Amino acid sequence: MNVLVINCGSSSLKYQLIDSITENVLAVGLCERIGIDGSTLKYTPQGGEKIQVVSPMPNHEVAIKMVLDALVNEEYGVIKSLDEINAVGHRVVHGGEKFASSVVITDEVMKAIEECNELAPLHNPANLIGINACKALIDVPMVAVFDTAFHQTMPAEAYMYGLPYEYYEKHKIRRYGFHGTSHSYVSKRAMDIAGLDPNNSKIIVCHLGNGASVSAVLNGKSIDTSMGLTPLEGLIMGTRSGDLDPAIVDFIANKENISVDEVNTVLNKKSGVAGISGVSSDFRDLDNAADEGHERAQLALDMFNYRVVKYIGAYIGALGGVDAIVFTAGVGENNGIMRKQVMSRLAFLDVTMDDEKNKVRGEEMIVSTPDSKVKVIVVPTNEELAIARETVALVK
Ligand code: AMP
Repeated sequence: MNVLVINCGSSSLKYQLIDSITENVLAVGLCERIGIDGSTLKYTPQGGEKIQVVSPMPNHEVAIKMVLDALVNEEYGVIKSLDEINAVGHRVVHGGEKFASSVVITDEVMKAIEECNELAPLHNPANLIGINACKALIDVPMVAVFDTAFHQTMPAEAYMYGLPYEYYEKHKIRRYGFHGTSHSYVSKRAMDIAGLDPNNSKIIVCHLGNGASVSAVLNGKSIDTSMGLTPLEGLIMGTRSGDLDPAIVDFIANKENISVDEVNTVLNKKSGVAGISGVSSDFRDLDNAADEGHERAQLALDMFNYRVVKYIGAYIGALGGVDAIVFTAGVGENNGIMRKQVMSRLAFLDVTMDDEKNKVRGEEMIVSTPDSKVKVIVVPTNEELAIARETVALVK
């Protein structure tokens, strides 16, 4: 069966059409600038050239209609009719405490997702718009796959904040974690690749992209992760600060004479390696600048690595040991130098890297030596495939 995977943002929409039997991507692309001037559809059919169409997309329904038209287009389409789309899998950012796994979308589920909107005001409403737009155009079963679901197995000692308990009861303020589809997919692949027992394994997954998070996976279940109520907590990221003293919010607001909302924007959009370096949020730019002697670019890279090492150390404590440390996402999959630097600081674990294998980019590979006590593994994440698999499992 063919599954259309949709990842809907407020002004963008990423999509893939996946044949669930061969797991081939039949078509992939995105709509950008929805509701803004210069809306663009990008579309690449399997084995074909990328196509770009600039055309007004006043809303998500128009955007999805354009995607569907491209999929059945006589010249570059990959299916003959929309009947060949059997199900749709939607990425939904926040499932709160209501969703510990993926679900078939019903009216009740839509209501429950809407109730999570205040926990992810920038993302969930856009996800709902995407679901509604799809429902208006095709009548097939749809599944919601939540970014938070995999981390719902965290125990209370890991997910509670040291705040008055009533804030948890009244406002559901707790740690939820994100990137769950990626952490789940990558930890399972790592178990397969390294031959680890799903019921007796301690894995740390480092999802290091523009957004970044680490998770501790015990016997296949997430027991802790670095992101919290929102994706701001944890690692230093492309533009997010990660962990800091909460008193800093008020301090910046006073010193800079800006509102708490504005501080929030600074912490999410102007901080992280971009804010520290003053160069870029892109790690390739930072690597180049550091090579040319840019001190703050080097500092940003060192701080990023150091924070990753700290979280790995903390999670070895949480897991009571570690069998495998796994790297994924843009930086984790491609940047062997970062992997080597992080693992060098953990050499006391009797980890040894295979420098040749560690040159790998974007390929599944054990990059530690056979005698290394802890396995280090690169696993390219594939959230779309994971969403398609979840969708098929529920729809069948
Ligand atoms: P993601 O959010 O997973 O797409 O990751 C984006 C980050 O991955 C950016 O900072 C990129 O610089 C980084 N990245 C992507 N490809 C490479 C590469 N070949 N080498 C180093 N970093 C890369």
